[in-house]
Amino acid sequence: MNLFNINSGGFTSDRSFDQCLKCTACTSQCPVALARPDFPGPKQCGPDGERLRLKSPDFLDDALKYCTGCKRCEVACPSDVRIADIIALAKDKYGNNSFKVRDFVLSHTDMMGTLTRGTAPLVNKLTSIKPVKMLMDKGLGIDQRRTFPAYARKSFRSQYKSVAARQENFVRKVSYFHGCSVNNNEPELGMDLIKVLNAMNIGVRLMKKEKCCGVPLVANGFHKKARANGELNMASFEESLNGGSERVVATSSSCAWMLKDEYPHILGVSNENVQSRISFITRFLANEFKSGNIPAMKPVNLKVAYHSPCHLIRAGGVIHTLKTLWEIPGLELTQLDSNCCGIAGTYGFKKENYETSQSVGDKLFKQIEASGCDYVVTDCETCKWQVEMSTSKKVLHPVTLLAMSLA
Ligand code: SF4
Ligand code: SF4
Repeated sequence: MNLFNINSGGFTSDRSFDQCLKCTACTSQCPVALARPDFPGPKQCGPDGERLRLKSPDFLDDALKYCTGCKRCEVACPSDVRIADIIALAKDKYGNNSFKVRDFVLSHTDMMGTLTRGTAPLVNKLTSIKPVKMLMDKGLGIDQRRTFPAYARKSFRSQYKSVAARQENFVRKVSYFHGCSVNNNEPELGMDLIKVLNAMNIGVRLMKKEKCCGVPLVANGFHKKARANGELNMASFEESLNGGSERVVATSSSCAWMLKDEYPHILGVSNENVQSRISFITRFLANEFKSGNIPAMKPVNLKVAYHSPCHLIRAGGVIHTLKTLWEIPGLELTQLDSNCCGIAGTYGFKKENYETSQSVGDKLFKQIEASGCDYVVTDCETCKWQVEMSTSKKVLHPVTLLAMSLA
């Protein structure tokens, strides 16, 4: 836990602002400050603003709402100031957290998945037609230019049942935190993970219960709900690790970052009993490959461009994805000079953020189109949605590419 973390009156505050050297390195790297002249930037919204807000909440600047939470400022900071966390916690503590239907719908991802499951084809059709998009724009404030990710007809957890028994035959097993996106939108990624790990003689279990990691809930002001989810997830992780799983792995880079690195200081949820055994999947795979456990693969003969997601950069995990991809035969890999893609989870769905979101991602979109790649590869589901909406390319997860290469 951060040394400067304090918890009072039900709120967590991050006191790392005292370490600020006022160098402005953070502001120079903030994609929103570059795209919006009215956003004061991380130094002013984070450490500078927090000193004032502690004197009086009246100093809360409404512009904090434009922060995407990308954490590029924290990567740039030479003094380990948790700038994005200071901003996120200030929004929760001092902000106007009045209930908004739009923010509830966008952030309660597991609930929306459950509600739409029986009618996925109809919901997908409705959310793609112009009159409905216009209604959502005018009525809810969800920008009509945004493309919605499609819901799957059958959840990942249902599909998993067909392979569950076989997983217990493996001597080595890991537990898989699939997250909302795999369960509701992209179950094929979860099934790809099972194919890959089974080819490496590792079984894949699911937790008896898992809830949304909390990233969209925190971004939309539902900290209490995120905290409850966090408590449940940590209890589930402990149960599965005590029950014979070696580790808990996640295929979403943002979920993994939240579960492993953010729970204690953002939500006050202790993860100390399990923290060292939570891995983003490419870290786990790169370690397995290094120890010689590499599945049999055939050449894929593809040219791909890799976009590194902001939260994976913050976690220091990009190198593990690159090491994983380098093992795939016949893969021509270009690493993009990745700026933030701009979507930032639910941020880019909001009408007031759409222009900023697309402006932040513009440099990346141009690089992708110029790359001549067959596919873009990235580790984050919302980066995938943004790139597929804003370019002509289809986006694959590294695990899907590995599954395609299995002999
Ligand atoms: S988290 Fe991202 S958008 Fe927010 S202040 Fe930091 S760099 Fe800027
Ligand atoms: S980069 Fe860190 S030390 Fe420099 S101004 Fe920003 S918060 Fe302060």
